Amino acid sequence: MQEGLKDILDIQELDMKMIRLMRVKKERQKEIQQIEDLRKELHLQLTEKETEITDLGKNITTLEQKIQEINAKIKRLEGQQTNIKKADEFNALTQEMTQAERERISVEQKVSDLVDKKVAEEELLEKIRDSLKSSEESSLALEREIQSSIKLINEEGSGLKHQRDALAASANADTLQIYERLLRNKKDRVIVPIENRTCSGCHIVLTAQHENLVRKGDNLVFCEHCSRIHYWQESEALEGTTVATKRRRRRMANA
Ligand SMILES: [Zn+2]
Repeated sequence: MQEGLKDILDIQELDMKMIRLMRVKKERQKEIQQIEDLRKELHLQLTEKETEITDLGKNITTLEQKIQEINAKIKRLEGQQTNIKKADEFNALTQEMTQAERERISVEQKVSDLVDKKVAEEELLEKIRDSLKSSEESSLALEREIQSSIKLINEEGSGLKHQRDALAASANADTLQIYERLLRNKKDRVIVPIENRTCSGCHIVLTAQHENLVRKGDNLVFCEHCSRIHYWQESEALEGTTVATKRRRRRMANA
C-alpha cells in the first residue's frame, strides 16, 4: 500500500463514524424543531381563536345597542302617533313602526346567530387549550430525552475528534489534505480498495495497467471515474501471511 495511506484509512474510519453521528444529531435536532413548530402552531391557533371570540363579542354588543336604538325609535313613534289626528299621517307612522320592528327582528336574528357562533368557537378554544396542554406535557418529556441523546452524541463526537486529531498529527500532511478535499466533495469513503479490478467507490471496471499502478503503491492513484484514491487490499492480506508464517515457525520451534 502507498506509504502513509494506512494512517489516512484509520482517519477515514473515524470520519465515517463522525458523519454518521452528525447525521443522527441532525435528525434529533429536526425532531426538536418539529415539536417546537407544533407548539408554535397551537399557540397561534389559540391566539387567533381568542381574537375571533373577542371580535364576535364586540359585534354582539354593537347589535344589541342597535336593538335598543330601534326600541327607542318605536317608542318615540308610538308617542307621536297618540297626538296625530289625520289618518294618512297615522298610517305613515304605523308603516314606519312596522319597518322598525322588521329591522329589529332581523337584527335579533343576527345576534342569535352570532351568539351561537361564539358558543361554538368557545368550545373549540377549550379543545385547543386542552390539546396544547397535553402536547406540552408529552413533548416536554420527549424533548428532554432528545436533549440528553444529543448530549451523548456530542460527547461521542468530541471523543472521535480527539482520536482523529492525534492520528492527523502524525499522518502525511499532503495526503491528508488531498483526502480531506475529496471527503468534502463526496461525504463518503474516498480511499477505497480495488475489488475484481473494479473501483469499490463507483463500481466502474478499471484497466489492468491502473490496477498494476495501485498494486505497486509508489504513488497515490486516483480513480479516473470518481477521483477516489485506490489501494490494493491484498497488501494487508500479505502482511497477515507474514504473521501466519512467524506463528508457524514458532509452532515448529516449540515442537
Ligand atoms: Zn471510482
